Amino acid sequence: MQVVVIGGGPAGLMAAIEAGKENDVLVLEKEETYGKKLKITGKGRCNITSSLPISEFISNIPGNGTFLYSAFKNFTNEDMIKFLKEEGVEVKEERGNRIFPASDKSDDVLQALLRKCKKEQVILKTNKKVIEILSKDDTVIGLKVEDTITKKQEIINSKKIILATGGKSYSATGSTGDGYILAKKLGHTIVKIMPSLVPLECYEKNLCRQTQGLSLKNVKIEFVKQGIKKPIYEDFGEMVFTHFRCVRANYFKWFCSFTKSI
Ligand SMILES: Cc1cc2nc3c(=O)[nH]c(=O)nc-3n(C[C@H](O)[C@H](O)[C@H](O)COP(=O)(O)OP(=O)(O)OC[C@H]3O[C@@H](n4cnc5c(N)ncnc54)[C@H](O)[C@@H]3O)c2cc1C
Repeated sequence: MQVVVIGGGPAGLMAAIEAGKENDVLVLEKEETYGKKLKITGKGRCNITSSLPISEFISNIPGNGTFLYSAFKNFTNEDMIKFLKEEGVEVKEERGNRIFPASDKSDDVLQALLRKCKKEQVILKTNKKVIEILSKDDTVIGLKVEDTITKKQEIINSKKIILATGGKSYSATGSTGDGYILAKKLGHTIVKIMPSLVPLECYEKNLCRQTQGLSLKNVKIEFVKQGIKKPIYEDFGEMVFTHFRCVRANYFKWFCSFTKSI
């Protein structure tokens, strides 16, 4: 096989479509279906992209967003919208420049990716877990794959492998962090991974009880550290309060004030 893609999430399927224009491509997905995580994005609606210009897009990325410039130069948010339209998925824009499928169904995005894969004659296989990337003399030569049902193992020869195994959150969707292990075994350096989008837990019991179930839109959040005048972080968006409470006292030292609810 000329190119093998490990992982049938949005990154793997998109990579397969692109590679499929000039190569024979095989996608190996360890779950029984593709894009499990994609299906739960945006509460099942999939916030596909933003309509903001690329420069603003990048300035909204936490950390060092500038490294994404070269990727966005080749494929922009507008290209993504065009790609979906060509595959029959209409989109709509909502508050905050957010783009969603007009149908409000994340599955439409997944089906568009799968349709395009088929058009490019990409071979798609589920229940195939890659357990090792094989190399010889510092060159990739193939993969060891296990069938998750029969447990049978096989070797697939390929000199070009695209690792698209996702991160390590929501492991029930298949993103269990295999890619870090596979890459490390090949000699790559893996930076310490950490969560990016997390809930805030607070230790005030009554606040949780009184607010649980409350869902707010257009909320500005500010993190203020006692003794420092300027907020150390601020953001704007949606907020939902749940019953979670942190049992470790003093764990959550910051306090937040919801200053502007429009
Ligand atoms: C609750 C939630 C809501 C989100 N909402 C949005 C949103 O609205 N908009 C947005 O842009 N992003 C959203 N995201 C983020 C988005 O889901 C991810 O950025 C995206 O899914 C990453 O795509 P990926 O293809 O890199 O990885 P994944 O989607 O994680 O796909 C990786 C695939 O690789 C497979 N795999 C892993 N290991 C192996 C192996 N060893 N062998 C074979 N296959 C393997 C997995 O089973 C999985 O199918 C959300 C995430 C979550 C958790």
